[in-house]
Amino acid sequence: MTIFRRIILGEIPSYKIYEDAETYAFLDISPASPGHTLVICKSEVANLYELSDADLIATARTTQRVGRVLRDVLQPDGINVVQNNGAAAGQTVFHYHVHLIPRWENDGVFAFWQPQSLAKELMQELQTKLAN
Ligand code: 5GP
Repeated sequence: MTIFRRIILGEIPSYKIYEDAETYAFLDISPASPGHTLVICKSEVANLYELSDADLIATARTTQRVGRVLRDVLQPDGINVVQNNGAAAGQTVFHYHVHLIPRWENDGVFAFWQPQSLAKELMQELQTKLAN
């Protein structure tokens, strides 16, 4: 059982922001910025690949709802929506969750990726492999 399952069950305390039948939203214990919120589905699902259509929709709905609350109450300049799958992508808790990270101008919270330029052949090869 993951720590998020234990939070849903109330075995571990959390700063709950929102809850409905399918989802639960709470403040991240080690926030990237004030208001950093996690939206999780109540089903025990590790990642995006395993998520049912119903849980995907429910989690997206709660993400938008909580995002609007963060926007209205904290009035950040922006919000990042981040969702990690696999340890290589930074996932540390293997229960599907979405990060909502309020951002303010020049907050230095995190930098985006370094954009690359790939050869046309590789782009075409990727398209051939991926588009079906
Ligand atoms: P991941 O790296 O898997 O995408 O994100 C996991 C997040 O869960 C991290 O940002 C981490 O701070 C947060 N987290 C881990 N354990 C707890 C906990 O017990 N309570 C809360 N509220 N957040 C947690």
